[in-house]
Amino acid sequence: MHILITGGAGFIGSHLAERLLKDGHQVTVIDDLSTGRLENIQPLFDNPRFTFIRDTVLNETIMHILMEQCQQIYHLAAAVGVKLIVEKPVHTIETNIRGTEVVLQIASKFRRKVLLASTSEVYGKNSKVPFREEDDRLMGATFFSRWSYACSKAIDEFLGLAYHREYNIPITIVRLFNTVGPRQVGQYGMVIPRFVQQALAGKDITVYGDGNQSRCFTYVEDVISALIKLMATPAAEGDVFNIGSDEEISIMELARRIKAKTDSASKIVTIPYDQAYEKGFDDMTRRVPYLGKINKVIGYAPTFKLEQILERVIEYHKSIR
Ligand code: UDP
Repeated sequence: MHILITGGAGFIGSHLAERLLKDGHQVTVIDDLSTGRLENIQPLFDNPRFTFIRDTVLNETIMHILMEQCQQIYHLAAAVGVKLIVEKPVHTIETNIRGTEVVLQIASKFRRKVLLASTSEVYGKNSKVPFREEDDRLMGATFFSRWSYACSKAIDEFLGLAYHREYNIPITIVRLFNTVGPRQVGQYGMVIPRFVQQALAGKDITVYGDGNQSRCFTYVEDVISALIKLMATPAAEGDVFNIGSDEEISIMELARRIKAKTDSASKIVTIPYDQAYEKGFDDMTRRVPYLGKINKVIGYAPTFKLEQILERVIEYHKSIR
């Protein structure tokens, strides 16, 4: 099958491209390399079933051509990373909303199947544990850019569900919870690569806030397997699924574990949110996915424990130093 991945030079997209090629598919990636990196897909260039187009999903002419050729579309292209989102709010809103509009409009013309990547950020600062797909969402004030990301992805979800209901286009939406693994970089804010890079370089490990906030981290391979299974499951169409892990850890404990595992002499320091991001920045205290829904539909359960994930990520960062 010929498959299109938007944002396929990014961290998750490049792992997906690699797997789909291994499975024998023809894969086209479109990426504007804004956060994606050529080196993520460099090893794929030798494969005759792989094509890379350097362009934005906002280019409708190109997207028309590509989506006519491809039977399935994984729409991963988006502005992501809390740091980037806070620093470039206009880019975030426009890329995320307009990009998805383009994909869905063309999908409806050619009746293509689309898997739309959303985010656990859409739950906002609701403190409920765990987050179920049908839960209410609690957003902060519009003065804080962070929420523009959550809202732009929520609009994407509304659009995806609307195209499914109104035009019967096969669309499945996933909410990703803190995916990690090799090739993820720390420069847009993601905590594990940041802590690992800081620990390996002997620099301060920067815990934002008091470090009592917690997260659940999912290994990228578990995410990729879930995406591929959902794409192949008609019962998942017109629906929204959490993909994540329910192994929870506080950010302070995460810093300690990374320091210990890397044998680092780094100091763990706390930095107020106002200094780390923007004045009045809101963080989520806990973010745990309910996994019963996705388990029922595709039998999903995370297979990688945090220990293994950290070992692999540390290994990767040592290898590229
Ligand atoms: N964080 C931190 N230090 C960093 C980067 C992030 O303490 O250098 C914290 C961040 O404030 C949040 C958690 O780690 O509480 C996860 O952040 P990330 O940006 O990876 O993902 P988020 O869950 O916020 O989308």
